[in-house]
Amino acid sequence: MSHPTEVKDEALKPNNFLRTIIERDLEQQEGQPARHFAGTPGDAAHHAAGPLDPAKIRTRFPPEPNGYLHIGHAKSICLNFGLARDYGGICHLRFDDTNPEKEEQEYVDAIKEMVTWLGWSWEAGGTSHLFSASNYFDFMYRAAEYLVTAGLAYVDEQTPDEMRANRGDFSTPGTDSPFRDRSPEANLARLREMRDGTHPDGAMVLRAKIDMASPNINMRDPALYRIRRAHHHNTGDKWCIYPMYTFAHPIEDALERITHSICTLEFEDQRPFYDWLLNHLADGGLLARPLPHQYEFGRLNLSYVVTSKRKLRQLVDEGHVDGWDDPRMPTLVGMRRRGYTPEAVRAMVESTGVTKTNAWLDYGVLDGCLRADLEGKAARAMAVLDPVKLKLTNYADIFGSLEHREPCSAPAHPHLPELGTRQFSLGPELWIEHEDFMEAPVKGYHRLYPGNKARLKAGYVIECSGCEKNEAGEIAAVLATIVPDTKSGTPGADAVKVKGVITWVGVHEGIAAELRLYDRLFTEAQPDAGGRDFLEVLNPASKKVVTGYLEPSLAAAAADLKVQFERHGYFVADRIDHRADKPVFNKITGLRDNWGK
Ligand code: ATP
Ligand code: MG
Repeated sequence: MSHPTEVKDEALKPNNFLRTIIERDLEQQEGQPARHFAGTPGDAAHHAAGPLDPAKIRTRFPPEPNGYLHIGHAKSICLNFGLARDYGGICHLRFDDTNPEKEEQEYVDAIKEMVTWLGWSWEAGGTSHLFSASNYFDFMYRAAEYLVTAGLAYVDEQTPDEMRANRGDFSTPGTDSPFRDRSPEANLARLREMRDGTHPDGAMVLRAKIDMASPNINMRDPALYRIRRAHHHNTGDKWCIYPMYTFAHPIEDALERITHSICTLEFEDQRPFYDWLLNHLADGGLLARPLPHQYEFGRLNLSYVVTSKRKLRQLVDEGHVDGWDDPRMPTLVGMRRRGYTPEAVRAMVESTGVTKTNAWLDYGVLDGCLRADLEGKAARAMAVLDPVKLKLTNYADIFGSLEHREPCSAPAHPHLPELGTRQFSLGPELWIEHEDFMEAPVKGYHRLYPGNKARLKAGYVIECSGCEKNEAGEIAAVLATIVPDTKSGTPGADAVKVKGVITWVGVHEGIAAELRLYDRLFTEAQPDAGGRDFLEVLNPASKKVVTGYLEPSLAAAAADLKVQFERHGYFVADRIDHRADKPVFNKITGLRDNWGK
């Protein structure tokens, strides 16, 4: 995939086949049954009593609250909320919490926070559209009894192994269960026993009665309900049977009057069952028409990361990263902490369009969106990441004393004068980067080496005279003299021509800071490709912590402040650990795209 360095929100109109579908649907609405919406989710009678739906379309983002959202979810969020925004619709945030295990309030809260962080809201017209699928358990059970009564579902007492064997495979049709032809009355009695806790976990399941010979395995009598004695975070111990996802999800959409139910490609084979179920429940008068329709689009995969909750959990649980919000994680909490802006995430997600294939997006594209966003708003500052001392040996001769501090200044942003000016000062000792001095320069090196002149950024031209070494023979300090009358911004400053510019921070005022330098978490672009154990390709150098020095304009930096350290890249004051008296900055990304290198 290409590496655009700039992605402009407006200029890019990526292809999105869902827009075509929605526009067609909105045009063809005349002659269709009117869509009533009672203001809250409910069955056919509930909605029939309500007014016409003021929302032109309804979409939903339906996360399962069993982990933290990742960059792939951002795609789904921006798609569903974005389509609702663009077509006069409303997008619901629905917690798909029908699975009693693994679901926690912690995740519910984090999901709400991240949807908001991305800039979306489930409030519309003074109403909150925040729903929980577990509130529909009563209706789901009623739907199950209806299907049984109508001869469309049965209780199967085969063992799980028998059921698996009798399902057949792609080339072999399945075999009917011996329990398939029980009467509706017998099935209803059995289903009620399941609900009442008469039978142990796993003893039987409720199945739809469709076609064991269907070429679509999902239509071979899919399971609808299972017995599972588990405490649910919302409904407590009220239920010992829980609906299967494939049964619950279409019903959730219909109760909420979703018009366009958008999901990822792996659900394509589920669509016939989605339609089968909803049409039967509407025929029975339980659900209102028009019914929702399911549309599938390709997942978003990002290079150099994994985006499966299970694998992300493994990284956290086994201590390969420092938590869900580790800045190397592709979780939204991790990306926020790393310093990615919601604007950049949205621009990236929107630039990918919506297609029918699962796409691998290069991480460089995300960084390009980030640079495009931060370039125009992050203030500049000087920082030295790999410090060595520079001693200005004629300082007292030039300024009269070693105690003198020579004021210097630079614009906070080269193109945003409204951000003002940064003030700092020169003293006899400065911090500079190790790499800015070479005893024996290589060809084309223009920074400091004995006899060469270079400019201290926003300061003076200096001439290098050599260095001091410690007992181990390492460079302990670089030595230079100030060339008089060359101060940046004063008349005649450019009389002395130099090719190299040195960034620096005064030893007398530099702020020592912990700098966390992050790199990609994996060494392979597709860490889990071909079933490989992704832990084998963890990058051992994905986190490096150094102590550097920052210019004094950053003394009052607030947590989450984003800044461009000149020549090094974009950094953010860590939202958790940063303190004014103990600064901590994370490297977000460099100034150039290095992902391919
Ligand atoms: P995971 O596989 O990581 O556990 P999931 O799909 O099970 O993710 P859910 O909470 O069920 O996670 O997903 C909520 C919504 O986000 C679903 O509609 C799902 O299709 C969508 N989604 C998840 N991952 C991606 C992705 N990589 N690209 C686009 N949409 C995604
Ligand atoms: Mg899922």
